[in-house]
Amino acid sequence: MSKSITIDGQSIPFIDGQTIMEAATAAGIYIPHLCHHPEYTPHGSCKLCNVKVNGRVCSACTFPAMEDQEVLSNTAELINDRQKITQMLFVEGNHFCPSCEKSGNCQLQAVAYHLNMLDNYFPLFYPTRKVDASHAEILIDHNRCIFCTLCVRASQEADNKDIFAISGRGINKHLIINSTSGLLRETDIDIKDQAAHICPTGAILIKYTAYQVPIGERTYDHTEIDQVSLNLEKHGHE
Ligand code: SF4
Repeated sequence: MSKSITIDGQSIPFIDGQTIMEAATAAGIYIPHLCHHPEYTPHGSCKLCNVKVNGRVCSACTFPAMEDQEVLSNTAELINDRQKITQMLFVEGNHFCPSCEKSGNCQLQAVAYHLNMLDNYFPLFYPTRKVDASHAEILIDHNRCIFCTLCVRASQEADNKDIFAISGRGINKHLIINSTSGLLRETDIDIKDQAAHICPTGAILIKYTAYQVPIGERTYDHTEIDQVSLNLEKHGHE
């Protein structure tokens, strides 16, 4: 007999070793997330996928599914928490969607729409952050980094390199490039590396490609992030 958990009262099967996120996704249930990607080691840092497991708050992307768990995800309290976390991400960096070339393909923006985020709620920090345009083909705009570590994990786990790292804590947290100058041009990153394409925001961009797909015809312009995410997990890396 297969093992099962319930998510918001719906019984779903799981196999040993699956996380709650993996079991939910396999059953077609979307749990919002930004730092999770099915191909990389879970990190549990963005906290968007927080769910209540038998009354305790846990990250669905790191917490293992276990027999008889009662998981709550789609509750007013958790949706409100996710909205606040997303609002904090927006005010902590400099995310100006109308002038960002990732608009329409940005997971942060798409999650905000999914959560019906209508304003920033918190005062904007307007931090001073740099743009690294030193590399011939890849641009880093630190203003849009949400410290999800996906580029760090993709570089290490898929590209067998170590181009990126996160340094500092709290308000001093920042993305660093592992080179003597701290600039991307001194690394061996390649345009074909997964790390160059994995960023959920407009922090890592491929130069000269920004408007090949016009605004209005981009991924999240016509498909909600829950559907895109469930498809990605089913069919793998695009
Ligand atoms: S640059 Fe992009 S992928 Fe890397 S940590 Fe920042 S938001 Fe995540």
